[in-house]
Parts: sequence; structure tokens; C-alpha cells
Amino acid sequence: MDLNFSEQDRAFQQEVRDFIPDGLPADIQEKMKKGLKMRREDFVRWMRILAGKGWLVPEWPEEYGGSPLTPVQRYILTEELTRAYAPLLINQGVRMVGPVLYSFGTDEQKEKYLPRIINSDDIWCQGYSEPGSGSDLASLQTRAVRDGDHYIVNGTKTWTSHAHFADRMFCLCRTDPDVKFQEGISFLLIDMDQPGVEVKPIIMMEGTHHVNTVYLTDVKVPVEDLVGEENKGWTYAKFLLSHERIGIAKIGYSKAQLGKLKEIAALQPSGGARLIDDMDFASKIAQLEIDLDSLQHTELRAVMATARGDAPGPEASVLKIKGTEVAQSISNLLMQTVDYYSAPFIPEAMEAGWNETPVGPDYAATLGANYFSTRKASIVGGTNEIQRNIIAKGVLGM
Ligand SMILES: Cc1cc2nc3c(=O)[nH]c(=O)nc-3n(C[C@H](O)[C@H](O)[C@H](O)COP(=O)(O)OP(=O)(O)OC[C@H]3O[C@@H](n4cnc5c(N)ncnc54)[C@H](O)[C@@H]3O)c2cc1C
Repeated sequence: MDLNFSEQDRAFQQEVRDFIPDGLPADIQEKMKKGLKMRREDFVRWMRILAGKGWLVPEWPEEYGGSPLTPVQRYILTEELTRAYAPLLINQGVRMVGPVLYSFGTDEQKEKYLPRIINSDDIWCQGYSEPGSGSDLASLQTRAVRDGDHYIVNGTKTWTSHAHFADRMFCLCRTDPDVKFQEGISFLLIDMDQPGVEVKPIIMMEGTHHVNTVYLTDVKVPVEDLVGEENKGWTYAKFLLSHERIGIAKIGYSKAQLGKLKEIAALQPSGGARLIDDMDFASKIAQLEIDLDSLQHTELRAVMATARGDAPGPEASVLKIKGTEVAQSISNLLMQTVDYYSAPFIPEAMEAGWNETPVGPDYAATLGANYFSTRKASIVGGTNEIQRNIIAKGVLGM
């Protein structure tokens, strides 16, 4: 398989590189580089800039606002942007519910919701996981009962990213409790700003607020906000998960972090030997570089296969496992570069504008938090153990 970019692809790569210096706001880039907290306004500003270039939802059909970029060009776009420390998108609208709506939604749903996703007027959150249902998602218990022209929804969703600033939630609810788990689930669109929706924060171990528990008590959902057919929600949920895995290895971002690791390892913060000159440490960096290169080739093979029209298969699971392992190893080495200076727990250091004197070099202040934050990567979007099960079944035939 030829993994080289064509002339058009290289021209597109250059176009993206030329765009970044002026197109990516410096304050947002700085926040990402330093591992600082991003706010809704930051994401919205960036996503609107991308939408203006036609680069927010390039994979959508053109009639709904997509762009005529090939899969390889979309790969280049993500790679170049993340390498430059552009923010990762809030995917729940653009990569998750958007494709479900243009594939299975009514004309009214498409008209009402898709333009608001492209313009980031609505931020969406994903109401799948529940306190007793994560990996075993089909066992979910949130109940939706039809009452005239509404459903009445009761239940609890958890680990819900961005729910504290989301406008709408796409939610899996049980509409028929008397059939096989997968056959009694429906896919509802819920307005977050209404009585009965209560969002409580879950603070992660590094001190950030990213996820929430959402309590739904007698929440009214108009029947026109049912997507597709009642009790067929599992089909749409699975379709959506295949979109969730696009770009899951986050190779561009890992490359940027590896560059940062090499820069820091080449410094002599305490006047001693440089870490980069330590054979053991240098060989760990080299191994990560090799892993990242191999991962990139695996991802490119998957992208080229998609470009030929093949459906993405279990390689998405390979990319997820290896991509998150590499990201975690880089954050581990980054923390080692500053040794005990990564230990002080200063959540305020992750706020833009924090101007206290740091303990140790200024770049050390967020490395501990970054290390802890990266632990979640192997859980989000289906744990790495579940991905191994998929490979065992789909590739090894076990
Ligand atoms: C930061 C973060 C953001 C998230 N955002 C969202 C969101 O926006 N919306 C949403 O719906 N969900 C979200 N999730 C939830 C995420 O999808 C679940 O955490 C994940 O699917 C695992 O489910 P669980 O937490 O219930 O763990 P469990 O399913 O209880 O798993 C516990 C452990 O057992 C292992 N395990 C379970 N089953 C098996 C098996 N069959 N074989 C081998 N090992 C197994 C798992 O790998 C894990 O190590 C988020 C999670 C995190 C951490």
C-alpha cells in the first residue's frame, strides 16, 4: 500500500500549515501548550473559526455543511492542527449526534439542529453511561414513558462530559423493559435547560471539572425529539460509537507533547546533567518516538482503507489502545523530567492568568495534573480492556 501523500494532499498540508499562525488564536494555543483549563467560550471561538474555513465538519455530506475533503485530507487537517496545539473539538455535536441526525433524523430535526451544531450555538453532551452501566451499556435503566405527545424521562446519567455547560443532551433511554436489553432502547434529544434536569459536578483527581452526574426527574421530551424509531436506539448508538473512534489515537497531540518532553529534557533546571544525555531516559524517548511513528503508519493504513471505501474495522481498537498508552507514557516521562517539582497540588496553576511563584520551574506547575488527567484516556470512549475484547473477537476469532 502506498502511504505517501499525493501532490494535492501535500498542497493541502501546506494550506493548513499556512493557516495556523494567524488562524489559531495565540491565547488558546498557549492554554493548550501549558495544559491550562479551557472554557466553553474558548471551544466555541475555535470551532467557529474552523466552521468559517469549512473545516469543522468536513466528513459530513456537503448538503448538510460538509466539505469536499478526502479522508486523507481530513487526517492531515487533524494531524496538523493537533500538532500545533489547537484544541480538540467538543465532539458530542460535530462527531456524534450530528452524523446520527443526518443519517436517521427527520427533516425537521436536521433543519433545527444541524446548523446550530455547525455554528456552535448548541453544545451537546452524551447521555449514555449510568452508575450501573458503562462497559455493559445495554443494561441502562433510565426510563422514558410515552405520555400523549411527550416522553417522561427518569434516571441518572454519569461521567457526562461538558454537561455543566451543554445546551442539549442526546440520551439513551429504556422505552420497553420487557424485551432483550438492546431491543428496548430509544434515542432521545433532551433540552438541558428545563425543570427536572439537575447537573452535579464530578471533580477529577487532578482538580478539573470536566464530567458530571445528571439527574433526570420527570423530564418532558416532545415526541418529535425521538430520533429514528422507538426501541431502535441501540442501532443509532452503535453507529455513533463508530464515529466516536475517528482520530481517537490523537497522534498529532502526542507528537506535540513528545516535542515538549524533548525540549524540557534538554534543559538543566538545577545545574546538573541534562536528562536527554542520560542513556536510559533518552532510550525511553526514542522508544516512544518509534511507537508514535508505527502508530501513525497504522492510522494511515486505516485512513487509506477508508478512502478506498472499506469500513473501519477493529484497527480503531488497536489505535485507541496504543494511542492512549503512548500518551500516558509521555505524560509519565514529562512528570519525571521535573521530579518532585511535579508533586505540589496547585489546581489554580491550571487557570490562565495564575501568577503565583511556582514551586520549581514554571513549566513544572501543570505536569503533575497533566499526568493524572491522562489516566482517563484509557477509560473514555470504551475502556482499553473492552477494546482488547473487540480485537480478541474480531481479529483473533476467540
Ligand atoms: C473523563 C471521562 C469522560 C467521560 N465522558 C462520558 C460522556 O460524555 N458520556 C457518557 O455517556 N460516558 C462518558 N464516560 C464514561 C465512559 O464511557 C465509561 O467510564 C466507560 O465506558 C467505562 O464504564 P464504567 O466507568 O462504568 O466502568 P465499568 O464498565 O464498570 O468497568 C470497570 C472496569 O472493569 C473492566 N471491564 C468491564 N467489563 C469488562 C469485560 N467484559 N472484560 C474485561 N474488562 C472489563 C473495565 O475495563 C474497567 O477497567 C466518560 C468517562 C470518563 C472517565
